[in-house]
Amino acid sequence: MGLLSYLKEIFTGKQETPEGPKAPGAPAAKPAATAAPEKVKVAEAAEAKPVQTPADVKVEQKPEEKIMEEKPVADKITIGHVHMSGCTGCLVSLADNYEGLFTLLDNYADLVYCLTLADVRDIPKMDVALVEGSVCINDPHSVEDIKKTRENATIVVALGACAAYGNITRFARGGQWNQPQHESYLPIGDLIDVDLYLPACPPSKESIRNVAVMAYLLLKGTDEQKELAAAYLKPLMDLAARGTEACGCDLIYDVINQGLCMGCGTCAAACPVRAIDIVYGKPQIDRDLCIKCGACYTQCPRSFFNFDVINQFEAISEAIDAAMGKGGE
Ligand code: SF4
Ligand code: SF4
Repeated sequence: MGLLSYLKEIFTGKQETPEGPKAPGAPAAKPAATAAPEKVKVAEAAEAKPVQTPADVKVEQKPEEKIMEEKPVADKITIGHVHMSGCTGCLVSLADNYEGLFTLLDNYADLVYCLTLADVRDIPKMDVALVEGSVCINDPHSVEDIKKTRENATIVVALGACAAYGNITRFARGGQWNQPQHESYLPIGDLIDVDLYLPACPPSKESIRNVAVMAYLLLKGTDEQKELAAAYLKPLMDLAARGTEACGCDLIYDVINQGLCMGCGTCAAACPVRAIDIVYGKPQIDRDLCIKCGACYTQCPRSFFNFDVINQFEAISEAIDAAMGKGGE
C-alpha cells in the first residue's frame, strides 16, 4: 500500500479495492457485494416491530352499558304451573306463546312456581295455579302436592284434558317403566275443588294466554274489566262445576243436540279406542267401546261454547289485544 492510499484509508476509513484505485474519469466503484446486505438487514431490524405474543394483545374495553330496568309492575298477579302426571304437552303449549309469554311475564304475572322454568321447590302462595296432569293416588307426594296447591292458590285451573277428565291417564293400569306400582290416576277435581277447566289436549297457546290475561283482569282490573273477564271465564267455570266425567254421550247432549257441531271430526281423531265415526258429517258414537276418557269432549272446539258470551266477543277480543299489544301475536 502506497503512502497516499494509507493516508486515504486513515481519513476516509475506506479500504482500497484489491484492484487498486481507479483511473480518473472511470465509473465509481460499486460497493462491495458483501457490505450492502448487511446494511439492509440492520435497517430492517431497526424498523421491525417487536414480536407480539397473544398475551401482549390488548383488547379495547368498551365502557359497561348500564341497562336500566323499566319501572317494575307492582300490581302483577302470581301464577304457578303445578305438574302432576301428564306428558308436559300443556307446558309446551304455554311456552309456545314465545313473545306473548314475555309480555305476560313483564306486565301481568310473575311465574312463582314451575318445576321446569322456575327454581322453586315448595308450592308457594299464588293467585292462579295451572295444574297439568292427573293425580297418581299411589304416590303420597302427588296427593300432598295437589292438596297444598288448593290451600295456596286463589284460583285453581285444571290445565288440559288429563287434569280435567283423566284423558290418557285413564288407561293407566300399572306396570309401566319406571314406576310399576303407579296404577291409579284421578282427575284433580276428584281430590280438590277446581275453579275452572281449560280442556283440550293440549289447550291452545292462545287459550292459555287468554285465561292468564282474564285472570289478571278479574283480580286487578276495573269493575268493567272484571265483568268482562267473568263473562269470558264463565263457560270454563261451568265445566269445572259439571264434574270430572265426560264421554261421547256428552258430545251428543252438549254439542250435537245444541246444533253446535260443525262436523270437523276432531272428536273422532281424538278417541283412543276408535269409538267415534263421522257419519253424514256428524259423529256417531259406539257406547260399548267408549271408556269415558273425555278426550273427545275436551278436544271438541264447541264443547265449552257459551251463548252468554257471544255478544261480548268483540269487547273480550279487544281487551286481550289491548293487553297483549304486539306480543300477543
Ligand atoms: S268416545 Fe272415545 S274419546 Fe270420547 S270419552 Fe269415549 S273413549 Fe274417550
Ligand atoms: S269435535 Fe265437536 S264439532 Fe267437531 S265433529 Fe266432533 S262434536 Fe262436532
